[in-house]
Amino acid sequence: MSENSTNLDLLAQRLCRITGDGNVRTAEPLSAHTTFEIGGPAALFVTPGDAQEMRDCIALCREVEEPFFVLGAGSNLLVSDDGFKGVIIALSGMDGISVDGCELTCQAGALLKDASEAACTNGLSGLEFACGIPGTVGGACFMNAGAYGGCIADVLKEVTVLNGGSFETLPVGELDLGYRHSRIADDDMVVVSATFALTPGDPSQIRATMDDLTEQRTSKQPLELPSAGSTFKRPEGYFAGKLISDAGLKGFQLGGAAVSSKHAGFVVNMGGATAADVCALIAHVQDEVERQFGVRLEPEVRMLGF
Ligand SMILES: Cc1cc2nc3c(=O)[nH]c(=O)nc-3n(C[C@H](O)[C@H](O)[C@H](O)COP(=O)(O)OP(=O)(O)OC[C@H]3O[C@@H](n4cnc5c(N)ncnc54)[C@H](O)[C@@H]3O)c2cc1C
Repeated sequence: MSENSTNLDLLAQRLCRITGDGNVRTAEPLSAHTTFEIGGPAALFVTPGDAQEMRDCIALCREVEEPFFVLGAGSNLLVSDDGFKGVIIALSGMDGISVDGCELTCQAGALLKDASEAACTNGLSGLEFACGIPGTVGGACFMNAGAYGGCIADVLKEVTVLNGGSFETLPVGELDLGYRHSRIADDDMVVVSATFALTPGDPSQIRATMDDLTEQRTSKQPLELPSAGSTFKRPEGYFAGKLISDAGLKGFQLGGAAVSSKHAGFVVNMGGATAADVCALIAHVQDEVERQFGVRLEPEVRMLGF
């Protein structure tokens, strides 16, 4: 047995002591945890049940100098075909949502879809824009996710984060939220929970808005194929999808990855796409758009394990 696998076995045992047996897996395929359905195995994959367990798992990884990565719903992620040689800390077990007056508090692993459903059920308006974003609340704060004219920054009141080794509650004004940008990302913070300040609204009106946005999304986006949403950030003064379409790349395919023929802003997995296929396609799109229009597209999708 190699020294590395012995170390990983020991780390797995210590992670089990924090989270309980059954919450630590080895060689877990990350293709099963990303909406792209792409990605090799994680050496260790741990699912803490609460914030203290999460903090202890992260502290342990730091102590033994093992790289770790916090995973939400994997909906903005391209994982390499070789996977990730460290510890994935998956927050799917931390998914509680509670309501207090006009405030909705969600644990980081709660799905945005469930947060907007809870808001609607409780007659709270503000999170309608988020109903079709397939990420978690933590991932959405990290990315300042947005759609249809709304974004997290508009409705977020505060987040509790793990900053270094301790928990801190930060008001939205201290998070430097901008277009697909936050201080959470810059300062390597981990979101534990988020509180949204919403406004009272008529549930049937809120539902109608959510249904309308879902209809717009279904008609325009290739939701029938695995993807990670918009592949590229919106370049200032342009739309990535239009540039790619105007470059004649709609439907262009490399291996199992293609520029969607429904929405050129999405790279889709046509079946059996590898991360290498997606990377090659991204590079081709970047080069071709730059050659034709002088604009270098920047990926919105986060890369892991490259
Ligand atoms: C079909 C489709 C449609 C989409 N539409 C939209 C859209 O309209 N608008 C939009 O903004 N995005 C959209 N996305 C992209 C994606 O859903 C968002 O970026 C979402 O916020 C990512 O959340 P996640 O939980 O999946 O994060 P992941 O993909 O798991 O992770 C993304 C990054 O966030 C970090 N992260 C995750 N959780 C935490 C945490 N608790 N604390 C700190 N860091 C964390 C990860 O480490 C990683 O760096 C779409 C994706 C798909 C597949």
